[in-house]
Parts: sequence; structure tokens; C-alpha cells
Amino acid sequence: MRGLKQSPWIVHYDASSCNGCDIETLACLTPLYDVERLGVVNTGNPKHADIFLVTGAVNQQSMTVIANIYRQLPEPNVVIAVGACASSGGIFRDCYNIRGGADTIVPVDVYQPGCPPRPEAIIDAVVKGLGVLEQKHNLLATAKDGIDKVLYSHAERGDAPEILALRKATFQAEAFTHGDDSFPALQQTQVDVEKEFDSKLFFKALVNGKIIGAAASEQHGDTTTIGAVTVHPYFRDRGVAARLLKEIEQALPAAKRFETVAAHRNEALLRELAGSGYQPFRTETISPGINWVHVTKERP
Ligand code: SF4
Repeated sequence: MRGLKQSPWIVHYDASSCNGCDIETLACLTPLYDVERLGVVNTGNPKHADIFLVTGAVNQQSMTVIANIYRQLPEPNVVIAVGACASSGGIFRDCYNIRGGADTIVPVDVYQPGCPPRPEAIIDAVVKGLGVLEQKHNLLATAKDGIDKVLYSHAERGDAPEILALRKATFQAEAFTHGDDSFPALQQTQVDVEKEFDSKLFFKALVNGKIIGAAASEQHGDTTTIGAVTVHPYFRDRGVAARLLKEIEQALPAAKRFETVAAHRNEALLRELAGSGYQPFRTETISPGINWVHVTKERP
């Protein structure tokens, strides 16, 4: 973390800015402010970035790009909304084509107001972002040691940003394992996850207040359909998925049959499913590199 703090890498995306915020952001790189002397690197590759800096309001075109960049960031990461537009939609928020600020698509950690903010304020936002990044690093490190103290409970709509971040981390790892990043969860936005709460029952696994696992279920007659159980890659193969399934089974005593899925190379999850009594009954190809293995369990 010490090295990272001294040289954060930033990927900058203009969501539909008037260019005011972008000029101020780029001014940070000019000889007057010269943030590179402080180790800050402006990278074009999200896979190398620690910080995702967004300018401008989100519109129909930029929303998919923001989600695409966000899902490629390594974990943990920080998202900074620079300027009034990226923070809330700004003066464009009521336009027919504007969705709002960056937080309508991805969880934002630091908001830097201003129209546009001055370079000093943007540098200040990056420094604040580094503090958040350090907290996230520390939380993950302590959470990893606290696996024996996992708490399980219902998830609420307010958990959507954390569940989105968890899905991103989980399916990024899956994409690497499968050599294919076509997992539908990687295309989701925060609004998509929030909408799921209208019809699904969510459970979460918490360590030190951080969500490290989640599962969502939906009732179809006697059958409960559970989406792919997501467990942070740090906590795989430690019984979290099996326990989340058990919580759902206990919460729905009238359900006679349970169905869920796992990607075919996720051996840890398939092992936990088998250990919980789930048997494969069909395979579904969703892309050249990914098959869903559908598994089911009858209530005795
Ligand atoms: S906050 Fe102001 S300067 Fe920045 S993109 Fe919006 S209108 Fe332009």
C-alpha cells in the first residue's frame, strides 16, 4: 500500500463533459501542477488503474462505457466524480438524454464539486481517494483474517453498491479463469442491482461490516431459483456459499425445490454446491468460453 500511495495510477473518462472539467484535470499534468512529480500516472488502461476519475454527466452512450471501465479495474479501487456534472448531472441533470451523475452506474467514493473544480481541488480529491483506497486495502486484509466471524443476514436495497462491487470482483476472477469476460454480471449497473430488490430476496455474508458474499433468490411456484452465489475471491472455498444457500433454504420453508448455477470452471463453488446436496441437471452455453452448470436440490 505504501508504494501504491506514492504512485497511484488513474484512468480518466469523459462521460459527456463540456470539456471544462477535462481541461482542469489535464492541467494537473502540465508543468504548473505536474502531478507526475508526485508519482501520479495517467493511464489509458483500466486494468492498470487504482483510481477511476469521471468527468461529465452520464448519458445513454457513456453509461455502458463507464460500466465497462469499472468492471476492468482491479480490486480494491476508488471512483472519483470530478465536477458538478459527474457528481449529480449538474446543469444537464434534467436533459432528456441524461441519467444523472456517475453514481447512477457505479459506486462513487469521492465527490469533487465545482463547475469546473480547479486543479488544486482535483488533486485534493485524488488525495482523499488515496485515503479511501488505503481503508479498502486494510478492510480486505482484516476481513481475510476474520473468516471465523462471518455474519449472515438479509441484504437491503442500500447494499446495492457493495453487491455490485462484489459481483465485479467475483466475476472478474471468473472471467480470468474461463478466459472469457462475457459474464452478464460484468455488464450490470447499480440501477440494475437495485431493480433486482423489487422481486428477489437477498442474503449477504459480512466480515467486519464488509459484504464478502451474496445470493439472491426468486420464487417460481414450488421452485426457488437462486442466481449464481457470489463470494469474494479472497474467501472462496471456505463454506460461505454453502452457508448463504442454507440461509435461503431456511428463510423459505414452503419451497420444495431449489435451483442455482455455477460457471463450469468454478470448481470451488461446484464443490460447495455438491456438499450442500445440489446435483447437476443441465448445462447451458452462454458464450464460447462459459457454460452454466445448473444444479438442483429437492427438500427432503
Ligand atoms: S461541471 Fe461544469 S465544467 Fe464540468 S463538465 Fe459540467 S458544465 Fe462542464
